Parts: sequence; C-alpha cells; structure tokens
Amino acid sequence: MKPAATNPVSSSILRAGAAALLLWCASAQPAEAPLLAIKAAHLLDVRKGVTIDHAVVLVQGARITAVGSGLAVPADATVIDLGEQTLLPGLIDAHTHLTVNPEDSGYGVVALSGPRMALTGARNARVTLLAGFTAVRNVDAAFYADVALRDAIDAGDVPGPRMRVSGPALGITGGHCDDTLHAPEYHATAGGVADGVPAVMHKVREVIKYGADVVKICATGGVLSFGDDPQASQYSLDEMKAIVAEAHRLGRKVAAHAHGGDGIKLAVLAGVDSIEHGSFIDDEGIRLMKEHHTWLVPTQYLHGWLVDNAVAIGLPAPLLAKARVVGPQARRNFARAVAAGVPVAFGTDAAVYPHGLNAREFTSYVQAGMTPLAAIRSATVDGAQLLGWDDRIGAIEPGKFADLIAVAGDPLRDVTELERVRWVMKGGAVVRP
Ligand SMILES: [Zn+2]
Repeated sequence: MKPAATNPVSSSILRAGAAALLLWCASAQPAEAPLLAIKAAHLLDVRKGVTIDHAVVLVQGARITAVGSGLAVPADATVIDLGEQTLLPGLIDAHTHLTVNPEDSGYGVVALSGPRMALTGARNARVTLLAGFTAVRNVDAAFYADVALRDAIDAGDVPGPRMRVSGPALGITGGHCDDTLHAPEYHATAGGVADGVPAVMHKVREVIKYGADVVKICATGGVLSFGDDPQASQYSLDEMKAIVAEAHRLGRKVAAHAHGGDGIKLAVLAGVDSIEHGSFIDDEGIRLMKEHHTWLVPTQYLHGWLVDNAVAIGLPAPLLAKARVVGPQARRNFARAVAAGVPVAFGTDAAVYPHGLNAREFTSYVQAGMTPLAAIRSATVDGAQLLGWDDRIGAIEPGKFADLIAVAGDPLRDVTELERVRWVMKGGAVVRP
C-alpha cells in the first residue's frame, strides 16, 4: 500500500490546500490590497464645512488611507480622475423600507410573501445604492425580509447599501404597526405586536434574536394604516421605558415612529434615540428633544408625492384623507423644529414614494430653513452618528470605508445636485462608473 502522500489525488489536494493557504496569507496582508487614487476638482469636507480644491483621496482595499489637496499619487496606484466633479461622502438614509413599494400601501401588501419582499428589496437596494445612498437604516419590514437582504448584501450576493435593520416594528394590538387589513375571523396580527411590559421585553429580545440591529416601535398612530389616529399615542410610557431599557442593555438603539405631540414627548422621556416623522411636535416636544439630544428623522418629501400620486398607486380613501391632514402640519412643524435647533438626521420613508428618489428630501430640508450644508450633514456625519457607525462612514477621512459619491456641480449652491449623482463607490469598489 502506497503512502497517502504519494497518491496523485491526495498530493494535488495538498497542493491546492497549500495554494489556498498562501492566497489567504496574501489577502491578509493589507499591503497587497489594490491602491486607488481618486482625483476630483473639488471635495466637500462635510464635517469642517469647507470645499477642498485639487482633491486626492487614496484608498487601499475598502478603506480611505489619505485625503488632501494635491496629495502625491504613489507610482503603483490606479488613478480614477473625476475631472471637474465634486466628491462627497456616500449618503445615509436613516428611514427606508426597501422591501416594499408605493403600490403596497393598502391591500396589495397582503399578497406578498416574505421571500417576494426580500427580492423586491434586492431591486430597491440596487436602485438606492446607484442613487448615491451607500448606507441605510431600514425601520420595519415584515417576515425579517430586511435581515435576509442585509445579509445578502454583506455576503456580496446582491448590490446594495450597508444596512442597519429592525425586522418587524413593535406596536400595540390594532395600532399603526399591526395588521389592520383583515376581518376579525382571520385573526391577523403583525409580527411585532406586543402589549404590556413583559410582552414588549420579550419582543425586543425576539427581534434581536432574529437579527435586528435597531429596534423600531410605533409610539403613535400613523397615516398608512386603517382605524387609527396619527395624533393618538399608542404605547404607554411604561411600555416604552421597558423597550428602551431592554434594547439599550442589549446594545441596540430605538427608533420611534411618532406623529402626535403627546406620543413624541412620551417616547423622548422613555429615552428613544430618534423620533421618526414628528409631524405634530409642539414647543414642549421641541424643548425635550433638544435637552435629550433625540434625533428627528423628518421624512418630508413624501407628503406632496403621496397626495399627488394617490390615484396612481391605488391609495385607499381613508389613508389619503389622513395624508391630507398630516402633510401640511408636518411641514409647518418641521420648520419650527429646524428654527429651534432640534438635531436632524436625514430620512425619507422611501417605499411611500419610489426608491431611488431619496435625494429629493434635501430640497424639503432647505425649504424648511436648513442650509444646504446642514442638510448634507444630516445625511452624512449626523446620519452616521444616529446609525452608530460614525467610526466607519459619514465622512471622507483616513480609516473610514471608501464610500464616496461625485456630483457635477456645487451642492452647497444647488442641493438638487444630489438628485443627479454621477459616480458612486462603496467600500473601495466603483458601483456606478
Ligand atoms: Zn416608515
């Protein structure tokens, strides 16, 4: 009997194994990662609020190694010359629903399976990334389709932004985040419904068990749901305190959907990290949000789009009636919150309107009184802070992921330049040439 090592099959396996080990060692050496030099006429340093000319960004592998004006380009670097364009950090949308579309408001959604939602998400993730959004926080998805989507993107199976996901939003029985479409005999309940302190504690643990990076709750009624009032509070202060304590103890932030003024205040007092929408925020709510440094995620552009396109998407009449009331109030009160200095993180609620139009939100912020720079900050350095990712994204700085976009004009003069993103890089790979 021959020794195993002389068997030709065994030795070829050994050789392949040795080669794989060598490759693994090589890829573990950062020096072997390709070096890129990205040149552009301008670069917006969002943190400092200044534009740098003759910008050079050096990228090794997935991360930025150096940034500056007129930096020397190493001889072995591959140069990407973006000419007269302006570089910015990749954009961050802190409120998306990638796994559904505008037509899914109302009864269309009941025919959608979890797998179909995940595939819808794959399409919308690509569209969102190509629009310049290299990171999103996805707050509420049925059947954990968002967890599957996040994992597929991270594995490189489908293109898309970096994702923070919540799984199903926690909500009260019959509330905005329950399934309110079915007749009683169907006994339909949404995946995140939980009532009372022990049940909400269990639900927080459950969504984290199945992959949630962030916990989303419904603190008040909403617009795109039947039989509830956007101005009425839903979770009690005790329930929300229990949710926040449990989520924070397990290292997760809490995002609270809240339109009504009382629900906003209760959620802020419970310690949530962000208020989503904030439509009927009053002076006391504004004061509390500033005091607690609670982020407002305003979702403004959707109001006009939803009313204008209600017929085209088949929006049920009771939901359109609510949208007509909430929209004007939300615009007025957002402007008051901006004037008072409430911290704002950019968020769109994309899914209420078509994915990929996310950047139209910027104009809504400028119309509400933010400077273009402040609006861009909300979608970069500030958004990164809300996502808990300020160590890796949100700015063009050494050590951060090379998530970059380029636009033709000056976004500080015309913020709609961000609606026409020309070039996108995520983690050092060009995804939109
Ligand atoms: Zn939403």
